[in-house]
Order: sequence, then C-alpha cells, then structure tokens
Amino acid sequence: MPPTIHVIGAGLAGLAAAVRLSAGATGVMVHEAAGQAGGRCRSYHDPALDMVIDNGNHLLLSANHAALGYLAAIGAGEGLVGPPAAEFAFIDLAAGARWTLRINAGRLPWWILDRHARVPGTRALDYLALARLLFRSAGKTVCETVQCTGALYERLARPLWVAALNTDPREASAALAGAILRETLAKGGDACRPLVARDGLGPVFIEPALRFLRARGVEVRFGHRLRALELASDRVTALDFGEDRIPLTPADFVILAVPSMVAADLVPSLVTPVEFRAIVNAHFRLAPPAGLAPITGVVNGTVEWLFAFPDRLSVTISAADRLLDVSRETLAQQIWDEVATIATLPKAVPPWQIVRERRATFAATPAEDAKRPAATTSWRNLVLAGDWTQTGLPATIEGAIRSGNRAAELVSR
Ligand SMILES: Cc1cc2nc3c(=O)[nH]c(=O)nc-3n(C[C@H](O)[C@H](O)[C@H](O)COP(=O)(O)OP(=O)(O)OC[C@H]3O[C@@H](n4cnc5c(N)ncnc54)[C@H](O)[C@@H]3O)c2cc1C
Repeated sequence: MPPTIHVIGAGLAGLAAAVRLSAGATGVMVHEAAGQAGGRCRSYHDPALDMVIDNGNHLLLSANHAALGYLAAIGAGEGLVGPPAAEFAFIDLAAGARWTLRINAGRLPWWILDRHARVPGTRALDYLALARLLFRSAGKTVCETVQCTGALYERLARPLWVAALNTDPREASAALAGAILRETLAKGGDACRPLVARDGLGPVFIEPALRFLRARGVEVRFGHRLRALELASDRVTALDFGEDRIPLTPADFVILAVPSMVAADLVPSLVTPVEFRAIVNAHFRLAPPAGLAPITGVVNGTVEWLFAFPDRLSVTISAADRLLDVSRETLAQQIWDEVATIATLPKAVPPWQIVRERRATFAATPAEDAKRPAATTSWRNLVLAGDWTQTGLPATIEGAIRSGNRAAELVSR
C-alpha cells in the first residue's frame, strides 16, 4: 500500500494542509467529525431568516498572503472582495462623528500627517507611540506596552486589537498585537485593504476546496470523528474512529487539525490554550441602503463592525462574553437601534438572527499564547495544525491556513 496522510478535521487548517498535499504522490484522506466542512468558518441555511448566512462575519486584510494563496490554489481567488484602497468608514456613536480612515499605499505613512486621512482628534506623534508594539514585549499586555487612552486608542487601536485578537487590549498579548501591526499598518495601505467573502464563507473558502480535493482523488469522510490515537513510543500506530479502526504503516502520517480542547483529549500531556473568548454576530434580513459603506467601524456602541452584504446587514461584536447571558430579543433590539442610527433606517427591527460562538477563539492573553504548542510532537508521524498552535498570529483564518501549510511541509520532508 502507498503511504497515506490522514488529515483529522476539515476546518481551514485541515483543508489547507490537504490542498497542499494533494499535489504530491502520497495519498491523502480527510476525516471530519461534523456533517460539513469549515469548522468555525462556515455558511448555513438559517431558518429564522430563510437565507444562507455565515456563522460569523470574517474580515481579512490584503496582508493575509497565506489565505490569498489558498484561495488562488483552489480557484476561488475572485471570491474575496473589497475596496481598491485601504479605506475604512467609522462612526463614533457617542460623539455623533463620522470619518473615513485612509491609509496610503506604500510603507511611508503619509496618512498620519494628513488630518483628512487620519483619525479625527489625533496627532501624527500619537501614531509613532504604537511602534513600541513592534519590539517584542514578551509576557506583556497591550496596555502595559502602549497607552490605552485617548482618541487614537478609542477610535482606531482598540477596535483593531479587539477585532484581530478577540480579546480586550487590557489583557491581550502585546506580542500578538505587534504581529498584527508588523504585517498590516507597518506595511502601509497595500497590506490593509479590507476583504470579505461577499457570497459567503462556504462558497468562497470551503466548497471550492472540497471540489478541488475531490478532483484530485482526495476522499473527505464526513461524520467520521476520531475517538482515539493508538500510540507506540515514537509513532501513531492506528486511528480509532469507534465504529472502524485504521491501522497505520510506519510510512503513514497524521495531521491533527482539530480544536485545541479536542487535541488535548487525544494527545497525552499536550498543553494547549484552555481559555476562550466569544464572538456575537447579529444578522438582519434587509438590503443595505444606497451609499452605506461595505464595512463600518463603530466606536462607543455595542456594535463594533457593521457589514453591508447585498441582502442583509450584519454586525460583529468580539470579546463578547459579557453578552452571552443577555436575552436574544434584548440583544437584537439593542443592536438594531444602533444599526438604524448608523445606516439611517427605520426603528422597526427586520427579521433577525443572533449567533453566539462561545468558544470563537482562544483568549489571546500572554499566558494562553505561551501554552500554544509547536506543530511537531514527540510522535514522529503526528503533526498538529490549527489556529491555536504556535503560529505567531492570533486565532485567524490566516493563522489557521499558515498552520495547515506548515503541517503539510513537515509531513512532506
Ligand atoms: C464568529 C467567528 C468570527 C470570526 N471572525 C474572524 C475574522 O473576522 N477574521 C479571521 O481571520 N478569523 C476569524 N475567526 C477565526 C477563524 O474562523 C478561525 O481562526 C479558523 O476558522 C480556525 O480554523 P481551524 O481549522 O484552526 O479550526 P476549526 O475551524 O475549529 O476546525 C476544526 C475542525 O475539526 C473538526 N473536529 C473536531 N473534533 C474532531 C474529531 N475528533 N475528529 C474529526 N474532526 C474533528 C471540527 O468539526 C472542525 O471542522 C472567527 C471565528 C468565529 C467563530
């Protein structure tokens, strides 16, 4: 039998690994516990709205080169859309102020010198202070490293960190915030263009990958949950799926691309992040009014980002554990009140859905970041992948795909 690489988990990390490996001579098989692929990045038919929506709005930036490479490989490169320049509409609900942040292309940050391009109420010097995050501040939080007060913090830095880290900057890792800064703002507008899967995460990130894999003879088995790894001292010897068991030859490999808590159950003594933060999304079935920006950043509201899709308005609130116990009806009303103000719409709430992902990402604190394991393990044919492994990035699509690519590299050596 030719060797097989078994990929466990068909989230983005597992799919990225399988896509990379499908070009090689080794057989690849993907095992997914759920009935569909995508994990935390998926589309589904929502009965309350009677439309296909995403579990959560996912924002990417043009800096996300691994995600863009993955989409190009599966033939879905056109699926991410965004403005031609790095422009972000913002509103401060408390001050009633609106502005557009315009980050110029190229590395020289002219935009911070231009008061029509930078955040109102800020000075050019304020921005330079953020550079402290570029120098590794191991073990420190964002707010132990840079000033967490003032207009720049409230109107740009805080929204950026909360969205990227899904963790309040007062407890979030300065090193992870620095990684985001290094890959985005520090590179200029070319790296900061916002991108979204306008037609949905499933049609852009997942379905083309499944078609790509099928066309290359890769079997993806759904409803196939790994129950246990059978381990010898230095390698995995079999995969136990409960109803069936797959013995492994010494040439076979396993890429474990499951969530951290599942991996910790399957792999003895594996240390992983154990704290998580929630993301709340509110979806409203109403076409956006003409002129509404595709994405609006919101300051001093419950709403943090408003996304205008062709057939619906959709809101993201990160680090949202405080909202988990608020009733769905109260949340929908409160969020819609703000959306109606932002988009100048009637107060009557259109058909809505609230999606709360309790364990959306691991908490990006210094302590949890320190628990993230490397991709390699003590078992020579077992490699880890997932946004929670040590990618150097917070839990993002980009991090998940980079981890899948790295796992593919490790098993191809
Ligand atoms: C609401 C929300 C909003 C987000 N917004 C953004 C954003 O704006 N931008 C961004 O970049 N990122 C965002 N993210 C993060 C992004 O979705 C994740 O980082 C990424 O999807 C993680 O992919 P993964 O493959 O590492 O893990 P997962 O998606 O968790 O995939 C793991 C897979 O393993 C499967 N599995 C579990 N146990 C087993 C088993 N025993 N056997 C077989 N299979 C198993 C699961 O079913 C799942 O399919 C968001 C996440 C959420 C939840």
